[in-house]
Amino acid sequence: MRKTLYAKFILGYIIFGFFGFVVVATFVSNMTLEHLKREKADALYAEANLIAKTYASDLYKSETSLDTVKRQLDALDTYLSANIWIINPSGRMVLDSSEPINVENEVVIENFNPTAASGSYYIVGNFFGYFDEQMLSVFSPITNNFRVKGYVVIHTPMKAIEASCNSLLNISYIMLVILFLLSLIILIFFTEIVYLPLRKITEATEQYASGNMHYEFQVDSEDEIGYLAATLSYMANEIARSEDDQKKFVANVSHDFRSPLTSIKGYLEAMLDGTIPPEMYEKYLNIVLNETDRLTKLTNGLLTLNNINTKGMLLDRTAFDLNQVIRDTAAAFEGICRQKSIVISLMLTGDVIYVHADMGKIQQVFYNLLDNAIKFSHNDSIIKIETNEKSNKVYISVKDSGIGIPKDDLKLIWNRFYKSDASRGKDKKGTGLGLSITREIIHAHGEHINVISTEGEGSEFVFSLPVSDLEEDE
Ligand code: ADP
Repeated sequence: MRKTLYAKFILGYIIFGFFGFVVVATFVSNMTLEHLKREKADALYAEANLIAKTYASDLYKSETSLDTVKRQLDALDTYLSANIWIINPSGRMVLDSSEPINVENEVVIENFNPTAASGSYYIVGNFFGYFDEQMLSVFSPITNNFRVKGYVVIHTPMKAIEASCNSLLNISYIMLVILFLLSLIILIFFTEIVYLPLRKITEATEQYASGNMHYEFQVDSEDEIGYLAATLSYMANEIARSEDDQKKFVANVSHDFRSPLTSIKGYLEAMLDGTIPPEMYEKYLNIVLNETDRLTKLTNGLLTLNNINTKGMLLDRTAFDLNQVIRDTAAAFEGICRQKSIVISLMLTGDVIYVHADMGKIQQVFYNLLDNAIKFSHNDSIIKIETNEKSNKVYISVKDSGIGIPKDDLKLIWNRFYKSDASRGKDKKGTGLGLSITREIIHAHGEHINVISTEGEGSEFVFSLPVSDLEEDE
């Protein structure tokens, strides 16, 4: 592809040169010759007219002698480099500027026909067979008493006109060559601006196609080609990054699957080989059950995230009472709250508040937030859930007074598989996927979720949902 593009440009360039030459050799050549011929004919015609009106008519009126006129014509012959004749309508030569006067040997132009020029005042040819070469012949009638007495004919060889035409053409050829060489600048521009950057881009695409996403290349121009190169390099970086993320993701998943599996395997083997006596089975089977719970949670989380990635998140929005969902979710945690003596305090706006959202997914958001709040709260503490309505939105806050989140971890908690070091001891079952799923759900609703937390004092998660216009939804 690369070679042909350049070859095509060179071919175009050669075609341009060739046609330039053809145009100069044909059109320009013909036009110049035609122009010079007409110009010469005009000049000679003016001269012939003058002679016809002065010396020649004087001669016919016998007011001057043949010798005097001959002398005048000789002078003009040299000045014009042309052959001047005075000729009778019958074709008999009266005077020839190139020959001495010879009355005995009279010269007659056979077939002389003054109308041969058919409307024009000049003809090109051998003048009725008189000359051996091509001549430009201009003639002007000599009139006396409204009668044509003869003609003044001036001949000049076409060779002379062609020679000056050729020297003009040579200038055109030189100009053409100069223009052709100057247009090499376009070729240089093309090479620098298009061809070389394009080669770099093609090379980079080949590298990317062969899997080398970290290949780096630089195109410095700020035009469309530069933009294309920058976009390509950005695309490759993004792919490389997502490949790295993918690898990290798989590594994390494998790790998170391996640890519960190792512990399950360990306990089961210990039971089989008798290391754990049968009376202790219940305790260890419960541990095994917990580990399988963790694996189920992990698999479900991964499935949810996978669905988000492939289809975006499909929401099934309806209008529902948010207060009811909060009450139901809080009730689901009653058992664990009783165990830890944790009180969930609800401060909800109004009896009912309708929001326009996907109920199942919002339930999951509450479940994740409450689950975390309880997990990371100390015994005998309070968790507050508060709703506030403002400009057609409900702001929901889930606040605990637990261990809090270290400042450096605040940004990281939204990442998949992220679990802060502090939480590991307290939360053996956590997958690190909960907040990542929560944020995806809220973003899919076009809303935001934020966290405010102080280490050792507690955390507050706040998110918004759109208030529903009931009539519209029902
Ligand atoms: P998991 O599903 O394991 O709970 P999350 O994504 O929900 O994972 O949470 C990620 C990490 O964020 C937790 O391991 C914990 O370190 C921190 N975190 C989340 N909620 C709280 C909270 N209420 N208090 C303190 N730390 C929290």
